[in-house]
Amino acid sequence: MQVAAQVAEEMGFSVYAVGGFVRDLLLGVKNEDIDLTVEGEGIAFARHLAATLGGTCERPSAFGTAVVVAPDGHKVDVATARSETYKHPAALPTVRPGTIRDDLFRRDFTINTLAFALHGPQAYALLDWYGGYADLSEGIIRVLHNRSFRDDPTRIFRAIRLAQRFGFILHPHTLRLLHRAVHKGWIAGLSGARLWREVRLMLAGESPVQCLLRLDEMGVLPQIDPALTLSQERLGLLTRVYEARVELADTAPDAVGRAWPAYLAALLQGLDASVIRRVCARMALSPRATQELIAGIGVVEDACRRLCGDGDARPSAVVAALRPLPSDLVPLLMAWCPQRECQQLIRHYLTTWRHIRPCLTGDDLKRLGAQQGPQIGRLLARLQAAKLDGEAPTREVEEALVSTILRSS
Ligand code: ATP
Ligand code: MG
Repeated sequence: MQVAAQVAEEMGFSVYAVGGFVRDLLLGVKNEDIDLTVEGEGIAFARHLAATLGGTCERPSAFGTAVVVAPDGHKVDVATARSETYKHPAALPTVRPGTIRDDLFRRDFTINTLAFALHGPQAYALLDWYGGYADLSEGIIRVLHNRSFRDDPTRIFRAIRLAQRFGFILHPHTLRLLHRAVHKGWIAGLSGARLWREVRLMLAGESPVQCLLRLDEMGVLPQIDPALTLSQERLGLLTRVYEARVELADTAPDAVGRAWPAYLAALLQGLDASVIRRVCARMALSPRATQELIAGIGVVEDACRRLCGDGDARPSAVVAALRPLPSDLVPLLMAWCPQRECQQLIRHYLTTWRHIRPCLTGDDLKRLGAQQGPQIGRLLARLQAAKLDGEAPTREVEEALVSTILRSS
């Protein structure tokens, strides 16, 4: 901060800490990202700051924003103070340089309009033009003006996410405006990329299921796609995905994976591949990510069928069923097969079975006479299965098994 203040003074600019950084500082919540707004030229400031810190200046944009990465990896978001006007609902704004006060007025909610200057006579005094401090103290999410959701419907999602995150309520008037925005169908005007960014942030946040419930209650989900409804079955699945992720974070942290694929797959439970493609296309997911999701759901369904009921419960069969599972979807599998026996098999797989390797290596197999190429892979798989099922407890037994197989082939 002191370096930023010094750079600003050298360049004759005014620099302010703003937004989420100030909000979280006042709430006493950890926030590693520093957001700075510059009255002057943000990108020139970011370059100079990066050079002074010995870091880098990345992603300079046409809107006058850039990210400074300090040598220790900390990030500082730098923006040029600007004012905005919106031509029509959900349009990208027309942007002009402005004062810090203009800049704060284009923010989403009052709690994000707090700022303080980093230098000068007013340094570190809280700037609160829009009642942000009172709303932060009372736990209220409030838009700055009546056209806010119309200008930018991503704020519908941001309002719900922030309310859930901090346990805040939506101010009654803001709630009415939000309902109106949904009713008017303004979400349809959002680009897929902007919509997906907000949905993904929700799914990766602390309370994705509560956020989805609120989106459903407020009629937002069907505005994304009419097939998105929160049936009891989907809600149960989503809740179990959440529980599985909490459990895995403790017992098998490397198997937790990213949040969004498991939640999105749970939300799409029971829908045809063509509908899933339509929903993913609306949110601008790449054809590849979409295909991976559809294939992953297929693997989960298949694995669940093989594990549950009268399926083959030998460890080697469980490993064969679960190996193709993408790690992002492990929580989905746990949610999909809630029966106790299946849960136990999945836990065994995660804690022990998936790590078991035969004693012999590819080189050992070559020494025993195996051909370089696919034969080695097949033999290793056979040995692993034998070891998993307790049929090859020692290196000697593995060697004997390999010799038998090679003789008979
Ligand atoms: P987080 O801790 O989730 O990063 P944040 O408040 O810093 O929270 P960002 O998405 O990083 O959120 O955005 C930085 C700031 O930019 C916000 O504090 C907010 O003031 C403003 N902002 C972001 N998105 C919008 C939007 N759609 N409309 C208006 N202002 C926005
Ligand atoms: Mg931020």
